[in-house]
Amino acid sequence: MEVIKVKNLTVTYNRKPAIKGVNLTINNGKIIGIIGPNGAGKSTLIKGILGFLPIDTGEVKILGKNVSEVLKKISYIPQKEQFDWDFPISVYDVVVMGRYPYLSLFGHPSQNDKSIVLNSLEKVEMIKYKDTQIRNLSGGQQQRIFLARALAQQSDIYFMDEPFVGVDAKTEKAIFELIVELKKEGKTILIVHHDLSRIKEYFDEIILINQTLIAYGETEKVFTRENIEKTYSGQLTILQKVNQLL
Ligand code: ADP
Ligand code: MG
Repeated sequence: MEVIKVKNLTVTYNRKPAIKGVNLTINNGKIIGIIGPNGAGKSTLIKGILGFLPIDTGEVKILGKNVSEVLKKISYIPQKEQFDWDFPISVYDVVVMGRYPYLSLFGHPSQNDKSIVLNSLEKVEMIKYKDTQIRNLSGGQQQRIFLARALAQQSDIYFMDEPFVGVDAKTEKAIFELIVELKKEGKTILIVHHDLSRIKEYFDEIILINQTLIAYGETEKVFTRENIEKTYSGQLTILQKVNQLL
């Protein structure tokens, strides 16, 4: 089933294009990596697809509809530094936000909403921190809370912007296992990944981007030296690593 269709998407900041003319057709039930160097436009691509930024040209359809019509079906985990971790709010309150799309105007979370929240906290092994202020958590714990919020939303498509940054190896493994569970349920997961480690292990498909779309498709086919060189043009240290990785 086709879940995301992006046609000729261009997003600019102050007249400088961050991504140009991107076309993508994405089917469900896959784990998809969005790969490219710093400043390549990975976060911009997600925000453009989700309608968080004004787009210059192009069209985005999710499940055949405009994004605003299918918000319940979409979870977004922002890049960690874009979230205000000093905001005085408890773990439980962050995760319950995942239920907001389901509440009626002025509605309060139902018993069912509350049990979904607690269940999500169990899944990420953070239940005992439910009353803790988020600012008192470690980086890995914060990322688990983001994931719990996304799980509580019970959506079909997950956008995760660098979920493995600043987390310990154990948390990375736990997060990835939950992502695989989501995939088994037929969900689609797009993950911005900032380096070239574990690409073959993690992703069914990859989107290689550096302002323009370099390549998109099955990891086996797309993760080639030629494509990586195009994506990371000029970045010698990364290109040297490619030899070990391929
Ligand atoms: P990535 O996530 O791949 O590191 P981004 O999508 O964050 O890249 O950024 C792509 C380009 O757009 C970069 O050159 C960045 O400096 C620029 N950019 C990102 N956000 C803004 C913004 N809010 N205002 C102006 N320029 C921005
Ligand atoms: Mg980014």
